[in-house]
Amino acid sequence: MFDTIEVLKTIAFSLSESVLEIVYLLASILFIMGLKKLSAPDTARAGNLWAAFGMGLAIVATIFLHQMDGKDIGNKGLIFLSIGLGTFAGWSIATKVKMTAMPQLVSLFNGMGGAAAALISLLEFPHLAEGSPDGTADLMSGHVLAILLGLVIGSVSFAGSMVAYGKLDGKINEWRSPALRYINMGFLLAIFGTIGWLMSLGSVPPANAMFVVYGIFAASLLYGVFFVMPIGGADMPVVISLLNSFTGMAAAMGGFLYDNQAMLTGGILVGSAGTILTILMCNAMNRSLTNVIIGAFGGTTGESQEVEGTMKETNVSDAAIQLFYAQKVVIVPGYGMAVGNAQHACRELEKMLAKNGVDVSYAIHPVAGRMPGHMNVLLAEADVPYEKMHEMDEANPDMPNVDVVMVIGANDVVNPAAEDDKNSPIYGMPIIQAHNAKNIIVLKRGKGKGYAAIENALFFNDKTKMLFGDAKDSLQKLVSEVKGL
Ligand code: NDP
Repeated sequence: MFDTIEVLKTIAFSLSESVLEIVYLLASILFIMGLKKLSAPDTARAGNLWAAFGMGLAIVATIFLHQMDGKDIGNKGLIFLSIGLGTFAGWSIATKVKMTAMPQLVSLFNGMGGAAAALISLLEFPHLAEGSPDGTADLMSGHVLAILLGLVIGSVSFAGSMVAYGKLDGKINEWRSPALRYINMGFLLAIFGTIGWLMSLGSVPPANAMFVVYGIFAASLLYGVFFVMPIGGADMPVVISLLNSFTGMAAAMGGFLYDNQAMLTGGILVGSAGTILTILMCNAMNRSLTNVIIGAFGGTTGESQEVEGTMKETNVSDAAIQLFYAQKVVIVPGYGMAVGNAQHACRELEKMLAKNGVDVSYAIHPVAGRMPGHMNVLLAEADVPYEKMHEMDEANPDMPNVDVVMVIGANDVVNPAAEDDKNSPIYGMPIIQAHNAKNIIVLKRGKGKGYAAIENALFFNDKTKMLFGDAKDSLQKLVSEVKGL
């Protein structure tokens, strides 16, 4: 009788483990298909839902099917309470956040992922000796390495994302110092040296090594802060996507630790997608990845040249005439278009000009706005066809043939200082060469600076006319004016 119960228990255990493995496989497939769908704006929403469904499935299956030593995982009330609280907080923040504050939110959520990975490592390290008769654990193992790497990468991602959040929200100013490069290198050497030393200790009771683990945790948090602190305006997009890939890698370490395929696949997908995006961003910004990791990159004095000349103002009716009689118009959208919610008015003007035979297209800079792909998302929301959106490299060679470039709330991404002022903090960043067009109209509210907080010589160019006012308001007035022509 006793034997039969044991056999039934074993069958039930092996069956639930097999179902769990199948669910993890299904979740991994959903993550991959979801990611594939994220690559095109019209399928991105569905991709997000697919991946979220996969994650939900993996969580529910783990709670109900995962067993430890043949027993239920327990603490279900606490688990559901935490999930409920987290879902409520995430849902209410995400539904209330303004589109323009989305990058801050992404940084905040990314930081939470890093913190979760670091906490897993801190909680799992003391359990290493479980089941060992003498209460010691061999620290020279892949398992320990996964715990420590999860701790370091997760903590760097958490602390770095919090600083990035503060910077994007205007709460923290950048702090540059040549010393930071050495401080950061020192932290990296100390962290990885300590990990090597700790693992070389061999078999020890984990509790005795906990103070070293807390030391690694503290040093990683400090490195995260010092690594993001000196990064200037124009380089922020690179650091944001790098932190995103760190969170993925930290989660993948958790997958190794628990032998959990869904966590591993999810982490690897986020880590590799983030790494590819980081490399693309680095190329787009003309920066090297090594410089990003040891910090203080950019390498300029940050003292821009004085800009000479005066700004020339235009009015709605003159600007409308200039646009209406042009053959070729290129629109350069920037952060101000997003804040001003001007994309729909812009699309209306574009359609109206096109109806009158003007060839209108958009030139998109890879870091315009405040998050990668910001302008593409914004214009897609206003139903601008993809074939009208041209990447910077495609748009620049044709710039001398453009009759009017209309810059809408963009500043840093059209600043010629990136090409000709070696001391400028944005020097070396490729820009949309609006200054090469025959005429330039700039729509902005006033004389405010861009994210990098520097003056822009384009606004003082002889070919440039400034149309001051809120972007949406100016575009709506232009639409009415063009209608009357
Ligand atoms: P910028 O931030 O350089 O400039 C935006 C301009 O918009 C300002 O000069 C402002 O001038 C104007 N503006 C603000 N509100 C309005 C409004 N309602 N109507 C009209 N104009 C308005 O934007 P860019 O897109 O050119 O550059 C993006 C910058 O952000 C780059 O430096 C980039 O590195 C950085 N960044 C990008 C990230 C990304 O992933 N894309 C992430 C983090 C940073 P005024 O006040 O006079 O109106």
